[in-house]
Amino acid sequence: MTEKKELNFDVIILGSGPAGFSAGIYAARGALKTAILDINMFGGQPSNYLEIENYPGFSLIGGFELMEKFEEHADKFGVEKFPMLDIQRISLIKDVKEIETNDTIFKAKSVILATGAQAKKLNIPGEAEFKGRGVSYCAVCDGAFYKEKTVAVVGGGNSAIEEAIYLTKFVQKVFIIHRRDELRADKILQERAFSNNKIEFIFNAVPVEIKGSNTVENIILKSTKDGGTSTLQVDGVFPYIGLTPNTDLFNGQINQTPQGFIETDINMQTSLKGVYAIGDVRNTPLRQVITAAADGAIAACSAVKYIEAQKPIVV
Ligand code: NAP
Repeated sequence: MTEKKELNFDVIILGSGPAGFSAGIYAARGALKTAILDINMFGGQPSNYLEIENYPGFSLIGGFELMEKFEEHADKFGVEKFPMLDIQRISLIKDVKEIETNDTIFKAKSVILATGAQAKKLNIPGEAEFKGRGVSYCAVCDGAFYKEKTVAVVGGGNSAIEEAIYLTKFVQKVFIIHRRDELRADKILQERAFSNNKIEFIFNAVPVEIKGSNTVENIILKSTKDGGTSTLQVDGVFPYIGLTPNTDLFNGQINQTPQGFIETDINMQTSLKGVYAIGDVRNTPLRQVITAAADGAIAACSAVKYIEAQKPIVV
């Protein structure tokens, strides 16, 4: 068996969304030897967003384009990049943190967790069976397959409303199914959805089953008011019911909320020395590109101070 190679850094950032790249820029500018690791391609969730219109300085920019700019900026300061890794083990508890892949052991004095979050599943019959055959978690990726069709978006948050509006570019009709009669989404998005004549709201209902033959044909809805059921004919279902944090590789090593989001203090410090958490994976009141980027800046500055304090005092 060949020995795994060892790579040493001051700080390793896990995840390459806006939080990760921002942390990389600040850490490298803070003179730390910095690496960004990811199990996927670089760019994180915003790379899949068609448009972003609330990142200051850019009244409208493609999500992929914005993340390319973040990456170029990190490149400029010499951040080392390792995408598409097969990470097998993450050890955060000891002073020297380790991340092991199939051929490398990455070691660092500090780790910044920026692993993001992914779409929560409905966990109803038919959801897994019809994934890719009518069930999709990415309107930008799959919307064009539903030209002149009827689809259902599930959820009442920003994602559900934004994606429903996006889908109206292609489809004949979008039903937005929400479990209450009041939306959680920002008012500006609500107004756009309410005035879009391709969108129809079904309030106080949840899907309980997705049915079809080869592809999705209908969903069974249950009223959250009286428990009554009904059938809605649709060609596609897009669940947007929130996020689950990506923490599988280090669960149990660190303090997390009951939902799994990582607890931090105002310096982005987790329950472990030298370990910080930023962006969507963190227990945060707002999940935006700008808040992720701000978290990254704070964590990197905290890491700089932490590493500085570790240096032996020479007298
Ligand atoms: P979210 O804000 O947590 O909203 C999830 C929605 O799904 C809520 O309306 C919730 O209903 C509903 N829901 C949750 N579990 C459900 C279930 N099992 N069955 C049916 N409905 C369920 O999630 P999100 O929309 O994905 O947004 C995640 C974060 O990203 C938020 O912080 C959001 O602001 C942010 N984001 C921002 C933008 C933007 O600013 N442009 C765009 C996208 C996302 P209740 O309302 O009843 O809880």
